[in-house]
Amino acid sequence: MDLKQYEFWFVVGSQDLYGEETLRIVGEHARIMADDLAQDPLLPGNVALKPLAASPAVIRRIFEEAAASPFCAGIITWMHTFSPSKMWIQGLGLNKKPLLHLHTQFNRDIPWDAIDMDFMNLNQAAHGDREHGHIFARMRLPRKVVAGFWQDKEVRRRIGVWMRAACALRDGIIHPAIRIGDNMREVAVTEGDKVEAQRQFGWQVNTWGAGDLAACYAAASDKAAHDLAQGYEAAYACGFSQGGRDAVIQQAKLEIALRSMLEQEDARAFTTTFQDLHGLPQLPALAVQSLMAQGCGFGAEGDWKQAMLTRAAKVMASGLPGGVSFIEDYTYHLEPGKEAVLGAHMVEVCPSIAEAGKKPRIEVHPLLIGGKAPPARLVFNAAPGPAVLATVVDLGDRFRMIINEVEGIPIEHPLPALPVARALWKPYPSLASAAEQWIIAGGAHHSVYAPALTREFFQDWAAMAGIECVLIGRP
Ligand code: MN
Repeated sequence: MDLKQYEFWFVVGSQDLYGEETLRIVGEHARIMADDLAQDPLLPGNVALKPLAASPAVIRRIFEEAAASPFCAGIITWMHTFSPSKMWIQGLGLNKKPLLHLHTQFNRDIPWDAIDMDFMNLNQAAHGDREHGHIFARMRLPRKVVAGFWQDKEVRRRIGVWMRAACALRDGIIHPAIRIGDNMREVAVTEGDKVEAQRQFGWQVNTWGAGDLAACYAAASDKAAHDLAQGYEAAYACGFSQGGRDAVIQQAKLEIALRSMLEQEDARAFTTTFQDLHGLPQLPALAVQSLMAQGCGFGAEGDWKQAMLTRAAKVMASGLPGGVSFIEDYTYHLEPGKEAVLGAHMVEVCPSIAEAGKKPRIEVHPLLIGGKAPPARLVFNAAPGPAVLATVVDLGDRFRMIINEVEGIPIEHPLPALPVARALWKPYPSLASAAEQWIIAGGAHHSVYAPALTREFFQDWAAMAGIECVLIGRP
């Protein structure tokens, strides 16, 4: 996943009131800052400096070009001097890209001995950015405001989080999701308005028959499947008997088949449903886990919203430590003082969240539902540590994101009779309170479990996608 393909336009505001010399210095400072931002590894995208925004015509032109640019994933604005905000109304009115208002100043310190009115006129962000912020508020534009000295690590970190969210939003516009089969029968929360999702998020979510996957499965070569199965066996521990290898080969063929469908549509996310496996030998399990580990979004039981959100989280987490997986709150441990949620799924949990130093184990076991052959799957414990759960639901007239900060905890029991990957976590502020709030908010049983991310990533993503966001977290 190459986030450097995405550009972030750095637009520095001023006005022509101060004469050519002041504008020359503003331009020089903008260039120094843009070059420095572009080289910071905390910022995943490319930073591109745009012409000095000192007139309505120039500003309008910048936003027109940004809207037309397939590479521009977001715009960062900063007012070095005062830049009257009526000049920005036309441009901002045309804007289609996520916005970050960087509230900073070129110099960190006031030069106490040398400061004069020329310095004061050049370094006006303290009031110039307030004028700028006012027009965002008046126009009700979603934006992130990051205040602080532009060289500070914390400022850079927060810009980097926003950039990653913007890359994910852009990725969701470019790459469709493939729904193989429909949603699980009678389930409410995995349904939703796909027309509205396309309008709101740009998500292209269309249906494909299980028969299409079966045709790709039939076309997968034995040689390619054997090679891929050998790759599985090299990457993971083998916990199946001699007779289980056929199930592993079938999963390899399923992965090849799914990959060819994804490639054909340039898709990066997909759903399956155990109720529609027509022509397939078993539920895609190890195949799904392997594709998720390669960065694909996935939703079980036709849950296309979680498939797209999982993909968005994968993009946000690109290159960061920790993993991202589709998950489901499965069952509780309610012993006083040790309350915890055991998260899992029938089979489809991503090995990117597995404990370090312990290879996930390939096992073959029957599924109690679906009526197909026992699928090969990876079994492992998730790594302990901080994580976030995030989900998107459709409330009929709007989408809502719900986030819960959690702490992954070690699984101290061997669970010999449980043949699925699992995570154990304590929700903040407590299991009971978090569950109450999640349920009040209408949160789904499916979500994204993301040790690689913090609440800030999802909050930024929700804000730029223009949806409401409920945070359940640390006090
Ligand atoms: Mn489920």
